[in-house]
Amino acid sequence: MTPRVEIIALGGTIASVQGAGPGVVPSLTAADLLDAVPAAGGIAHIGARNLANVPSTEIDLPLVLRLATEIHAHETEGVDGVVVTQGTDTIEETAFALDLLHGGAMPVVVTGAMRNPSLPGPDGPANLAAAVACAADPACRGQGVLVVFDDVIHAASWVQKGDTSSTGAFRSPAPLGWMSEGRPVLRGPAPRRPALSVADGTEVPFVPILKPGIGDPPHLVPAALEAGAAGIVADLAGGGHAHPAWADALGEARRRVPVVFASRTRGGRVLSHTYGQTGAEIDLISRGLVGAGDLDALKARIALILALMSGGPERFADLADLAWRPKTS
Ligand code: ASP
Repeated sequence: MTPRVEIIALGGTIASVQGAGPGVVPSLTAADLLDAVPAAGGIAHIGARNLANVPSTEIDLPLVLRLATEIHAHETEGVDGVVVTQGTDTIEETAFALDLLHGGAMPVVVTGAMRNPSLPGPDGPANLAAAVACAADPACRGQGVLVVFDDVIHAASWVQKGDTSSTGAFRSPAPLGWMSEGRPVLRGPAPRRPALSVADGTEVPFVPILKPGIGDPPHLVPAALEAGAAGIVADLAGGGHAHPAWADALGEARRRVPVVFASRTRGGRVLSHTYGQTGAEIDLISRGLVGAGDLDALKARIALILALMSGGPERFADLADLAWRPKTS
């Protein structure tokens, strides 16, 4: 039976053409995007609609929560896969948030474009064709939310945007797979955990990321609390290392709100028991801070916000551990 795939478009470069003013702006519809990929009709019966048409910096968590609700409704209706198109600048956050909210086996594939349709060799149609192929393919079931770009398949938990303009802007430490002759080839299971559920109308807490450079005084820590922060993500040096003055300020903040520390290297796991100086990971943990595990600061912020919205900050540690382990039962 021909699979059914729904495309939900949110805007971004893939949909951007010259507007009335300078530069391109999102304006093509989901149906326009689909028209540029006639071959997709041979892969699946496709429905296409817009939930928004915005640059990705205007996508907020309430919109992501609406999108997650729509995705869930499509899965309940028997749709085989959903493709989300959006701006690339925030995909690493939105795809991860969707992944934390998606408990089903139906593939959800996020894609977009680095070159807008007016440039030579726009990548949007190829990315959309690959995303539809992944959404329709049983091999991608049970893998949570995927980000497909430049014929590489990334798990939403790991993917990062690492370039302003390259068509290969998306990276993971180890991509989940790749496209071969129009079909997905996966090399392993993506990290998954039970989905979070957020009650309708739950307010999105303010959780800033604070990233000190050398010699910065920690003035922004009390300022964040003053501004109403419900949690703080500190994006620290190396394996999770702060100046003693920052350690004091963050430890003080921890008396009021959860404080997570991530690594500004954006690679590797934060440390837990290696360095002994004041402000290093052992000291920070003894002050009640929690390491971001495998997550960079952007993803740690999403995980902490959704943990706060769905039950409590103690759920954060499980969300931050992306290590693969064999099933024991
Ligand atoms: N450069 C972006 C994109 O690829 C713009 C955005 O994120 O909306 O779509």
